Amino acid sequence: MIRSFNPPVRTLMGPGPADVHPRVLAALARPTIGHLDPAFVTMMDELKDLLRLAFRTENALTMPVSAPGSAGMEICFVNLVEPGDEVVVCINGVFGARMKENIERTGGIPIVVQGQWGRAVDPNQVEETLKAHPNARLLAFVQAETSTGASSDAQTLAEIAHRHDCLTIVDAVTALGGSPLEVDAWGLDAVYSGSQKCLSCTPGLAPVTFGERALEKVRQRKTKVQSWFLDLNLVMGYWSGEQKRTYHHTAPVNALYALHESLVMLAEEGVEQAWERHAHHHRALRAGLEALGLELIVPVDERLPQLNSVAVPGGIDEALVRSRLLQHYNLELGAGLGDLAGKIWRIGLMGYSSRPTNILLCVGALANELSALGHRTDAGAALEAVRTVLDQKTPAP
Ligand SMILES: *Cc1c(COP(=O)(O)O)cnc(C)c1O
Repeated sequence: MIRSFNPPVRTLMGPGPADVHPRVLAALARPTIGHLDPAFVTMMDELKDLLRLAFRTENALTMPVSAPGSAGMEICFVNLVEPGDEVVVCINGVFGARMKENIERTGGIPIVVQGQWGRAVDPNQVEETLKAHPNARLLAFVQAETSTGASSDAQTLAEIAHRHDCLTIVDAVTALGGSPLEVDAWGLDAVYSGSQKCLSCTPGLAPVTFGERALEKVRQRKTKVQSWFLDLNLVMGYWSGEQKRTYHHTAPVNALYALHESLVMLAEEGVEQAWERHAHHHRALRAGLEALGLELIVPVDERLPQLNSVAVPGGIDEALVRSRLLQHYNLELGAGLGDLAGKIWRIGLMGYSSRPTNILLCVGALANELSALGHRTDAGAALEAVRTVLDQKTPAP
């Protein structure tokens, strides 16, 4: 007979999902109510306010899409791209390539700014491409490339886009809650994220926000959005606060309690304080890894604090180390993707995973396993290096 599923308790330090705080897991177990229940509607309104706080925006259309981050990506492209539209898309990792795929499937014409894996998007290259394609009205890029750990300058890229009369579609799946993101101050037009990265919620929800310019573009479409589920005009009828809510789909009620709780926790900590915590813990992890003789592959001023790509030392079997970490310490690290497969580990310090306990576990466990596999390391020196940085400041949690 098949019995109840009881997952092992892991420490999640890969590219997402991140560790989920017990408060968020507890919220999931609260009683399910109807998704048109007045109490639920109140919770939804709070959720939208909390998302505005996280995104740093006043955008009325700010809501969680009832599906994972990939659906956040898709809702932006299916609504903003019409057949024949030229869209400039920056590719410096897996997720930029997925954006291109989205453009093609919506009938758009992708114009690729090809970047290097492990590097930020080059603003000069974007500028040149926009100059060469004056008909393009959209620029799409990933702020935090989770596949490599590179951070692109969303503010500068948006400024260039607007100078060329383009709107921006920004992937902030891993950025939101983990590194500076200012939707209004930077003038980002359509931004999507995910619940399971730096918000530390369970996977399956995609917070999105659309500015007025983006909505105007949706209103002026000549063709119907080909996805019924993701058609903003219909979704808005369900999520907008003004009129009575009309049934569109059954909201994932308990998952939304969880997102609400994770955002309450972010608000309690403070958004800027959360950014600072991620940066601080990144410095501590980096000190420990460097003391082990390991190198981060992204240039220092283009690194994400929440996703650290580490070169696997010569002679070490990348996958073997990860499976031993999982077996011996219940610790999950991420593997490399695409060109970087077999060459790097991806160490996430996202949301609730970004805390001293995890850093010490990761550095100590890596030191042990590398030594066991014949790559001599000085675990004591590495833990000392972590502690030295952690001692410089001790932020929550
Ligand atoms: C995780 C991620 C996605 C996709 O999110 P899912 O929830 O896995 O669908 C998209 N973009 C980036 C940058 C991501 O890190």
